[in-house]
Amino acid sequence: MIFEAMTVGSYLSNCYIVGSETTMEAAVIDPGADFKKIDDKLKELDLIPKIIILTHAHGDHIGAVKELTDKYNLKIYIHKDDAEVLKDGNANFSKMITGKSTSIIPDFELNDGDEITLGDLKFEIIHTPGHTKGGICIKVGNIMMTGDTLFNKSIGRTDFPGGSFEDIISSIKNKIFKYDDDIVIYPGHNSPSTIKSEKLGNPFVN
Ligand SMILES: [Zn+2]
Ligand SMILES: [Zn+2]
Repeated sequence: MIFEAMTVGSYLSNCYIVGSETTMEAAVIDPGADFKKIDDKLKELDLIPKIIILTHAHGDHIGAVKELTDKYNLKIYIHKDDAEVLKDGNANFSKMITGKSTSIIPDFELNDGDEITLGDLKFEIIHTPGHTKGGICIKVGNIMMTGDTLFNKSIGRTDFPGGSFEDIISSIKNKIFKYDDDIVIYPGHNSPSTIKSEKLGNPFVN
């Protein structure tokens, strides 16, 4: 597996590139901004981007989607409960964040437990509502990208429309913490952690 993390945009969102070493196909997770930075990294790694998977619909995670899809004709995946928000430039906060309203129509709407195959990679979709209704975590190999659900020793905000503190705590405890302790989590903002480290040290779930 080829894996690259980069921080993009003024909200310091994490964008992840996950590539298959057998086919050199890649998924871009949360291209939040900085199209050129992401595109340069794809070229540097010799990867052929095929899909975009969004952990949720917020503007700080979707800012480079249009430019990437225009260039590479990528397929866009998002959980079905965030699909309507993604289409609405006000609800997805793109206007507030970039000054320009962006409406994105996804190609595929995901459900909990779905799997997306790309080369030798399998992306497992875990529905984790709480930050938004359709927030997901994406597990591939021994890593999990947790979007704005679970951060290193913190959790995502729950005061936006569709947010719920009860739901986010339940998502973390009952869905994410079911996985092995040694899985490395890569959140939507800030630095990585592990499931074990969050079980022991995250103040919101202890
Ligand atoms: Zn968010
Ligand atoms: Zn965010």
